[in-house]
Amino acid sequence: MDQSKNLEQLRGRLSEINHNLLHLLSERAQITQEIGQIKEKQGVPKFDPVREKEMLEELTAANPGPFQDDAIKLLFKQIFQASLNLQVDEHKKQLLVSRKNQQEDTVVSIGNVKVGAGKPIMIAGPCSVESYEQVREVAAALKEAGITVMRGGAFKPRTSPYDFQGLGIEGLKILKEVADEFGLKTISEIVHPSHIELAGQYIDVIQIGARNMQNFELLKAAGDVQIPILLKRGLAATIDEFVHAAEYVVSRGNKQVMLIERGIRTYENATRNTLDISAVPILKQETHLPVLVDVTHSTGRKDILAPCAKAALAAGADGVMVEVHPNPAVALSDSAQQLNIEQFHQFLSSVRQSGLLKDQ
Ligand code: PEP
Ligand code: MN
Repeated sequence: MDQSKNLEQLRGRLSEINHNLLHLLSERAQITQEIGQIKEKQGVPKFDPVREKEMLEELTAANPGPFQDDAIKLLFKQIFQASLNLQVDEHKKQLLVSRKNQQEDTVVSIGNVKVGAGKPIMIAGPCSVESYEQVREVAAALKEAGITVMRGGAFKPRTSPYDFQGLGIEGLKILKEVADEFGLKTISEIVHPSHIELAGQYIDVIQIGARNMQNFELLKAAGDVQIPILLKRGLAATIDEFVHAAEYVVSRGNKQVMLIERGIRTYENATRNTLDISAVPILKQETHLPVLVDVTHSTGRKDILAPCAKAALAAGADGVMVEVHPNPAVALSDSAQQLNIEQFHQFLSSVRQSGLLKDQ
């Protein structure tokens, strides 16, 4: 037989084997998908290193050559990894908040304000509601600046039990009274499931704070109402944990969820937390929910708020949150990092000049 004919035959045989391998790999992938679904139901991790090691040992024991054991291991590890990726992808598809599950952006309505519709918003207000007069002064400044959504904490989760804990329901009542007078919408943190429903009488958006991002009973209660939720990223939460926290709310039926990056704990101490700007495009890519950035709590520094707000908007954020107080020096919480009213106007004009924040 001439040599070229022989080569052709061998190549033909290789192609046949490639196709057989392809079919076997596809069949294998389908089986791993089924296993993935079973694991999903049982809530067990997709990656099982012990099982993987066992399979590799079985394969090398049965290795007829000419491949070395190491080469066999390498090839099969690739196959295992591809199967695992498939299971992870499947899991993401099943998450209601996932972009894989819903292509269109979720738009959250706060009255007439639409968050996530392509026009970023600015949310501003004091760290804590301290008095009627204090909130009124801030509200007047917001109104003057054309800002329509005001924040203000009434239930304050403080590091020390001896620090100001907030005015509670009384604080929510102050927010409502002032907001009604100035035609503003309000956001305030709720820390206990029993207050979730009640909060709807006084505020327009319920904030779930960083410290409560994995307070699952609170998340469930937030999912059982039809009030927009602003969910903050936990102090040391991964993006994946953040996404799953949002899933808790959405899976109970409340689809009006906004995510807000507020900095995470790192070794860096030039800022209070490290603002994870990359979380913005990642969350926009991975989920269909609006994504905002809290420049105050992430940086803890007044002097870099404007550039950080611009960075957030340039990265695709649907909004920015900032704290403002008539007299930060005497504020009952976060006194070092709140802007006074004049600084707030300067901050706003700097951000507006960038063209990244259209007028609300
Ligand atoms: C807040 O926004 O008032 C607050 C306490 O922030 P965080 O939960 O992000 O610390
Ligand atoms: Mn604060």
